[in-house]
Amino acid sequence: MKIAIIGAGPIGCYAGYLLAKSGHNVSIYERKKEIGLPIQCTGLLTADFDQFGFDKSSFLVNTFSEIEVNSSNKKLVFSGKEYLVCRKKFDNYLANLALKAGAKIFFGSSFLRREKEDIVVAGGETGQEKIISPEIVIAADGPLSNVAKSYGFYLDKRKNYYGIQAVVRGNFNPQRYRTYFGKETCPDLFAWIVPESKDIARVGLATTKNPRFYFDKFMLGKNFSVMEMQAGTIPLYHPKQKMVRDNCYLLGDASGYVKATTLGGIIPGMKQAQVLVDCIDNGKDYEVELGTLRKRMNLHLRLRKVMNKFSDKDWDSVLKLLGQEKVRKVFEEHTRENPLPLVMKTLFREPRFLKFVKYLF
Ligand SMILES: Cc1cc2nc3c(=O)[nH]c(=O)nc-3n(C[C@H](O)[C@H](O)[C@H](O)COP(=O)(O)OP(=O)(O)OC[C@H]3O[C@@H](n4cnc5c(N)ncnc54)[C@H](O)[C@@H]3O)c2cc1C
Repeated sequence: MKIAIIGAGPIGCYAGYLLAKSGHNVSIYERKKEIGLPIQCTGLLTADFDQFGFDKSSFLVNTFSEIEVNSSNKKLVFSGKEYLVCRKKFDNYLANLALKAGAKIFFGSSFLRREKEDIVVAGGETGQEKIISPEIVIAADGPLSNVAKSYGFYLDKRKNYYGIQAVVRGNFNPQRYRTYFGKETCPDLFAWIVPESKDIARVGLATTKNPRFYFDKFMLGKNFSVMEMQAGTIPLYHPKQKMVRDNCYLLGDASGYVKATTLGGIIPGMKQAQVLVDCIDNGKDYEVELGTLRKRMNLHLRLRKVMNKFSDKDWDSVLKLLGQEKVRKVFEEHTRENPLPLVMKTLFREPRFLKFVKYLF
């Protein structure tokens, strides 16, 4: 099939690679002139990343063996393997996979609008508008997707987070990344310190309002020197978001497939790309086949709703319960990609967590 993918981010490139490998005629349109810049991401990935079978040598920055979780009065350290990647190198790795599999990437080419079955892109050498007639259009153009808007996907109001991050110099334990929870620190998510090495780290947070205010407050008193600032939009998953309209499919951040608990979107988007490619190859219904992933996204969203209501005292008591050996083990055995076993086993081993269910209502 003749397939146009809008956006050469990690998810668009990964989908392009899989589709080209399946023998489709794939063109990826990217408005920027190069892949992966500016960097607007921490690049933290759970051990589920191993499932994709990539050679990580060109883009891996660090591998963690510990995760530190902080509330206002408590600190907890879990064991667990997680990866840190360089987004510029990772996105280029995926773009090269797509190119080698036979996909074409058109740089400096922006999607402008839909015209019935066709799409109009502009840019390239001449900057002129060009009409393209693909059989399938894939919207992988990120959280503010023009393709989705043009096809009438975003009927309900969408909620976004705004992430802000600095690359800093300081002294760090490179084996461990740290997270900080609490209304005073970061009201509707958490702040992070993610070391690249013993003297460089990515420090940031994301909120729905006033990210700069909370970021500046978080940086106060820390002996860091800022090398670079980064910022970006992250969509909050919308449970009623339609994924297919006419010949257009939503994918990655454009579809809001981001874990609402942590705002990690790379692994969910890549899993979603695998589902989409299976649907295109085998004539399956994308909305139906996304069922399992959607259930996970819904549970992440419910957990986010509960967490948003936690007071700083609640966070202290959550960390106290999590710190017990029997509960900690659950978190060390499962990644957060699939929250169902995490939630069920945690509740089974420590029913006192049920007191937080009231926050669902
Ligand atoms: C501060 C911050 C930290 C984050 N940290 C993590 C993390 O640690 N782990 C994690 O898993 N996720 C993280 N995320 C989320 C992650 O960055 C996204 O989920 C991921 O980038 C989604 O990939 P994507 O390909 O769907 O979209 P994008 O990466 O946004 O790529 C979309 C592409 O489409 C292009 N485009 C846009 N409009 C057009 C157009 N009209 N025409 C042509 N091309 C267009 C853009 O230029 C871009 O290249 C973070 C996000 C932020 C902002």
